[in-house]
Amino acid sequence: MSTATHEETLGFQTEVKQLLNLMIHSLYSNREIFLRELISNAADACDKLRYAALDNDALYEGDSDLRIEIEHDSKAGTITLRDNGIGMNREDVISNLGTIARSGTAEFLSQLSGEQQKDAKLIGQFGVGFYSGFIVADEVVVRTRKAGSAAFEGVEWRSKGEGEFSVADIERDKHGTEIVLHLKEDAKEFADDYRLQNLVRKYSDHIEVPVRMPKTETAKDDDGNDIEGSEVTTWETVNEATALWARPKSEVSDDEYKAFYKHIAHDFSDPLTWSHNKVEGKLEYTSLLYVPGRAPFDLFDRDGARGVKLYVQRVFIMDDAEQFLPLYLRFVKGVLDTRDLSLNVSRELLQQDPKVDKIKSALTKRALDMLKKLAQDKEQYQTFWNTFGSVLKEGPGEDFANREKIAALLRFASTHTDTAAQEHSLAEYVERMKEGQKKIYYVVADSFNAAKNSPHLEIFRKKGIEVLLLSDRIDEWLMSHLTEFDGKSLADVAKGDLDLGDVENEEEKKAQEETAKAKESLVKRVKEALGDQVQEVKVTHRLTDSPACVVLPEHEMGYQMRRIMEAAGQTLPEVKPILELNPEHALVARLEGANDALFASLAHILLDQAIIAEGGHLDDPAAYVKRLNSVLTA
Ligand code: ADP
Ligand code: MG
Repeated sequence: MSTATHEETLGFQTEVKQLLNLMIHSLYSNREIFLRELISNAADACDKLRYAALDNDALYEGDSDLRIEIEHDSKAGTITLRDNGIGMNREDVISNLGTIARSGTAEFLSQLSGEQQKDAKLIGQFGVGFYSGFIVADEVVVRTRKAGSAAFEGVEWRSKGEGEFSVADIERDKHGTEIVLHLKEDAKEFADDYRLQNLVRKYSDHIEVPVRMPKTETAKDDDGNDIEGSEVTTWETVNEATALWARPKSEVSDDEYKAFYKHIAHDFSDPLTWSHNKVEGKLEYTSLLYVPGRAPFDLFDRDGARGVKLYVQRVFIMDDAEQFLPLYLRFVKGVLDTRDLSLNVSRELLQQDPKVDKIKSALTKRALDMLKKLAQDKEQYQTFWNTFGSVLKEGPGEDFANREKIAALLRFASTHTDTAAQEHSLAEYVERMKEGQKKIYYVVADSFNAAKNSPHLEIFRKKGIEVLLLSDRIDEWLMSHLTEFDGKSLADVAKGDLDLGDVENEEEKKAQEETAKAKESLVKRVKEALGDQVQEVKVTHRLTDSPACVVLPEHEMGYQMRRIMEAAGQTLPEVKPILELNPEHALVARLEGANDALFASLAHILLDQAIIAEGGHLDDPAAYVKRLNSVLTA
């Protein structure tokens, strides 16, 4: 036995204290997950040792039979979990078992409410890891030694989970980690053979490292009684112990797929769907990709953890290998196991290997196909879309080659239902297109209501032509990369000349031309009054209720994107709108009959109102108010 030296007591990082507190109270009804977390860590440690030993066999210290052992003592109320993996040194122990270094931690903690059920869900999503031991234990002791270090470099960590822990140097002849849980009075039920075996099978069947438990056999005499002193203990492997992805699809149950997802994604909830593929030929790989059912805390952190777990010939190489999926699919979790890369591949080498690009484009197709399949179930797909839709919208800009495939996966709000729910696909839109309609129309605004009530929609509503209502921050950028779908061009109703295709008949077009002629002098007068505030003035037939609207030239950046870029500190060249007047409107009629002073005021008011209706900002709002009041009191 060893004696501990160089003992010190340290405080947990504040975040750990908060997590411990909440976890112990909120996860009571889900206590058994502690075992999954600890086995998962032990398996990771074995994976890491196997990887490190590729270059340096000596790290095995003569024991390359990687395994996890679980023992219990029901009398003492303890469970011991042992692995012969990579182990930790003193520094590792202090940082790994005293802090949380994960991204999104602060955000996670700030979302906690103190309401047990809600918090339990959040904690589950965040992942509790090592600290989950304290859900069932009132003291946890860890003894560990890093593979390759000397016996005297062992470390012992102890804590009662109440704000502090101690570390001390110990002698430890074996590398790897041993965790002893001193179970709480009301958690002693876990120190039971049957219970533990069931939990191992439930949570850890898919882990390739064998999980063993001792089995004691006693010889019997002729009368069937135990022969005293004849007990023989053997170690029995409890889990399936083959890598799940390496098994044939037909032999893996849905529950196993789900359990495996929870292991790799550190998620409590089920995935929405998955896709398991084995590819042989020019490329040789197996992939298992999942779509989570909920968003991780760092979804919008573009530097956050993403990508797949990479294995080469079943040897774990790295977590979060982001080279194999594009950024817009960063919510996809999974495993890639390939024979095409060498075992000593590193992140740097991955960036240079042309095979990586080939696998990436294959996995991207798989992921998009998986989403296409998911879309057959409208309700499930809506869950997906509401969670990850705005990430997928980055796709057409990032991945030109798959533009059309991604476009088919997009969902929008539309005047078809006039609700904010993004539930209409472009294919559905195309099916509903009017006879003679050639384009897919959309409007972009800062909010759903601004889009829905945009004056630009008036003629479309009158003619019964559907318009997509876009109001996410990314939408205008998305549309700038999505110019076509199914051979039909997409058109922003607030840009360029209005073209309703053959939906308008010859008579209507002729009548419009005549009106334009009749209003030529009015148009000229308005242009003179507004000077270089506008590029051009026209009469329009796109309005039915509003007196005027502003339109941007076809290829000009839209107002939404301008505002976003300006808010980000960019200076953009000024763009002058085209003012379009509704010749049928009473205000326009009043304008025609006005004297010069009133005419100038009204013309400015019409322009300013049109800008406001567009969600734009006036250069001189006070001048607008003054003019409006003078007209109101005239
Ligand atoms: P995560 O597994 O998500 O990193 P955990 O809280 O489960 O978070 O574990 C924290 C860290 O502690 C691990 O990343 C690992 O470095 C270390 N660790 C935990 N258990 C072991 C173990 N059995 N062997 C080696 N290191 C371990
Ligand atoms: Mg863990």
